[in-house]
Amino acid sequence: MARLAQTAGLTDVQQEILSTVRDFVDKEIIPVATELEHRDEYPQAIVDGLKELGLFGLMIPEEYGGLGESLLTYALCVEEIARGWMSVSGIINTHFIVAYMLKQHGTQEQKDHFLPRMAAGDIRGAFSMSEPGLGSDVSAITSKAVKDGDSYVLNGQKMWLTNGGTSSLVAVLVRSDEGHPEGTAPHKSMTTFLVEKEPGFGEVRPGLTIPGKIDKMGYKGVDTTELIMDGLRVSADRVLGGTTGRGFYQMMDGVEVGRVNVAARGCGVAQRAFELGVRYAQQRHTFGKPIAQHQAIQFKLAEMATKVEAAHAMMVNAARKKDSGERNDLEAGMAKYLASEYCKEVVEDAFRIHGGYGFSKEYEIERLYREAPMLLIGEGTAEIQKMIIGRRLLEEYRFQG
Ligand SMILES: Cc1cc2nc3c(=O)[nH]c(=O)nc-3n(C[C@H](O)[C@H](O)[C@H](O)COP(=O)(O)OP(=O)(O)OC[C@H]3O[C@@H](n4cnc5c(N)ncnc54)[C@H](O)[C@@H]3O)c2cc1C
Repeated sequence: MARLAQTAGLTDVQQEILSTVRDFVDKEIIPVATELEHRDEYPQAIVDGLKELGLFGLMIPEEYGGLGESLLTYALCVEEIARGWMSVSGIINTHFIVAYMLKQHGTQEQKDHFLPRMAAGDIRGAFSMSEPGLGSDVSAITSKAVKDGDSYVLNGQKMWLTNGGTSSLVAVLVRSDEGHPEGTAPHKSMTTFLVEKEPGFGEVRPGLTIPGKIDKMGYKGVDTTELIMDGLRVSADRVLGGTTGRGFYQMMDGVEVGRVNVAARGCGVAQRAFELGVRYAQQRHTFGKPIAQHQAIQFKLAEMATKVEAAHAMMVNAARKKDSGERNDLEAGMAKYLASEYCKEVVEDAFRIHGGYGFSKEYEIERLYREAPMLLIGEGTAEIQKMIIGRRLLEEYRFQG
């Protein structure tokens, strides 16, 4: 077992789940990841395997057919999966956020309708806040829902939906002015709609089009799409929680657990980069000895391992805080910020250790080098994390003079 990124105090069940996932990653993901990624191919066999392991229902309560596990168990599994291939963790991440939002905010009918099939992986979730004109500034959303009898008519364009094509349920955040007087704060006039659709591309439901996959520099295999709503009719019972005007808070709650998840991905990718770097450093010789024997390279390895340990500790702390029922926005923001920055730095160092070969597509580090930047952006950029952290610190350390 690896020495780094150990987690103290896990139960027997947690250890068993993690060892099963680690085994799956080593045998089923790592050997095929780079080839699939270069072909931008959806990893169907891996997804089927994850389904069998029950990972799509890991945090869904047992009464709905899930495993009812904690955020910590989930995050540690994500860390393992991202160590194998970050795109695979992306496939479960949006599903997990939508299931979490349903569990926390859904009506009883919505939970009964969606959660058992989500736990089985038969319904797969995507979530959609971003639009072509905005990502960080969610309050500027322009997509709109207008009430018409017993349903709502949705119009607008969404951007950057991870799993937009492969999902069959999208949680979509739109502006809904119905029932909210003129001048209501933007975030109080937003609603999350649970939009069911066929997987695939083109017109997947009347009024709803998924145009195709966005061509990305990395994070391949998993589909990222736009979503166009043109007179999309959604019945009122598909308003998340049954009441309009709560969408912004529901989404922010989802994004908060998503941040722990992105931190976990950063930890996993950094661990893999360290593994690759420390192995290569002992194989490659220059000036008569393995490069690992040059102090400059040893220092790099020392810095990389220290970053892997620090990011893992902060990620675990943020997950445990949420599991204890406490507010964790400060810890999640810090963990996401630190883990994604460290991930980029550790990957860069592993790349440098590989010399020219790091630039060759034959070496795994080339893939990691294109994947790490996504973590700097997804679930809120570094600047947005620092805004959240800064605001929370000023609340906690309010000057009483
Ligand atoms: C591969 C991929 C997958 C994604 N998946 C999803 C998904 O599934 N669902 C979804 O809804 N979205 C998704 N996103 C969108 C992602 O959340 C946004 O890209 C991200 O929030 C940043 O928004 P933006 O791209 O509009 O950048 P902008 O908000 O335009 O920001 C541009 C730059 O300005 C900085 N900035 C912005 N505001 C401030 C400020 N107030 N102070 C200082 N600096 C600021 C930002 O940090 C950034 O550096 C995905 C993005 C990518 C790349």
